[in-house]
Amino acid sequence: MEAKIRESIAGGKKLGIMGGTFDPIHYGHMVAAETARIEFGLDRVLFIPTGSPPHKENRLITDASLRYEMVEMAIQNNKNFMVSRMEIDREGPTYTVDTLRILHSIFPEQELQFITGTDALKEMLTWREHEEVIKLARIIGVSRPGYDSKNLIEKISRMYPFTKNRIAQIEIPALAISSTDIRMRVANNKPIRYLLPDEIRLFIKNKGLYH
Ligand code: ATP
Ligand code: MG
Repeated sequence: MEAKIRESIAGGKKLGIMGGTFDPIHYGHMVAAETARIEFGLDRVLFIPTGSPPHKENRLITDASLRYEMVEMAIQNNKNFMVSRMEIDREGPTYTVDTLRILHSIFPEQELQFITGTDALKEMLTWREHEEVIKLARIIGVSRPGYDSKNLIEKISRMYPFTKNRIAQIEIPALAISSTDIRMRVANNKPIRYLLPDEIRLFIKNKGLYH
């Protein structure tokens, strides 16, 4: 992991982790991270763009360095947010469990808190070594429009007792924004202004992404 990030995270007690493809990053991601940070007293939130995501091999994903650059731009004026290349620079498909193991070995004294939307939370139990994931990190499930989060945690903890007290759920301001919708809008010449930071809208335009 980048030395600069290691330094600014060291000394904290609770580290939030926001994983995603971020193709592109949008206000839904940022509101999720900030709301979780404040509600759970996280010292920092580390955004970790995926390298080659195992669940998304069926579509062409934007070059990792461009996705990274967009995250970097989006978070630059929030001193509690940082972004790491740790998954991007890893060879082959990247699994959350490996990332969490690395973070745990670097910051053994910190409580890791993995932030995820309801859609991803539902999928989580299909992930590689999901029991280990939930042991390594507490999970913060954030509400997401279009994905029913009612009783989800209770359902999960009834089915999987090992998740008990390891998953929390919070309501965040509902933003029906998704990267898929943004990509479709660009492809169809529809507006994306105000769905994501303006610099990123311009970056997408200048680089000719999603056309
Ligand atoms: P895609 O449509 O390409 O899947 P996405 O908008 O779902 O993109 P991801 O990068 O897949 O974005 O998501 C990263 C994380 O952010 C996931 O945990 C996802 O549930 C969460 N998330 C994304 N958008 C929102 C939103 N609008 N509200 C709450 N959580 C969100
Ligand atoms: Mg998604």
